[in-house]
Amino acid sequence: MSENTDIPVKSPDLAAMGVVRSRPLVIVDVDEVLGLFMQGFADYLALQGLEFRLDRFALFQNIYRPGETEHLDIDLGRTHFDNFFRYAAGDMALAEGGREALHDLSKIANIVILTNAPGQARLARARWLGRHRMDYPLILNSGPKGPLSAALAKQVSGPVAFIDDMLSNLDSVAKHAPEISRFQMVADPRLRPLAPANTELHRRIDDWSVLRAAIETAIS
Ligand SMILES: [Mg+2]
Repeated sequence: MSENTDIPVKSPDLAAMGVVRSRPLVIVDVDEVLGLFMQGFADYLALQGLEFRLDRFALFQNIYRPGETEHLDIDLGRTHFDNFFRYAAGDMALAEGGREALHDLSKIANIVILTNAPGQARLARARWLGRHRMDYPLILNSGPKGPLSAALAKQVSGPVAFIDDMLSNLDSVAKHAPEISRFQMVADPRLRPLAPANTELHRRIDDWSVLRAAIETAIS
């Protein structure tokens, strides 16, 4: 992992977002954790006459024109990705049980949404969360999530949990804030066998009702 640990992170003020310092904190991802991102992106690409093939746990390398064997140009894929966030990410379906788990956890902890979405996605993302009654503080990040998660954890005195589908983010949190309890969750059953994991380092639980109980134990 080529990660510069010296880059200072500008961390949002959690207290200003309504987070109570003494409460446990749950930092949770959106795509493929609370929402079925891949399905939403695939549906959007289909409207553009493209196919998303589930060949590997990747984004841009899985986009094809129908009948072709070479994936779409990566830059073009990235443009579709940005446009999806701008125009269509608000239609994304919910991951089963995620919203209910957060509602339960919010009785004992503060919830913060930490998403690696492009800046132009903020409004659509906030609307999506609000429409699905997950109107928790929303923080946009880019790159590995460890530095920002560490900066958030420093602002609270209670225990902290972190939930994400991406091994790179979990590894980054382990490196920068090892005291945070880490959980990997992959919402789409089709992605589960493809998603890289390291179960010796991070707990892997793909069922939100089981995950909710495990988070509750970790932060109680
Ligand atoms: Mg994600």
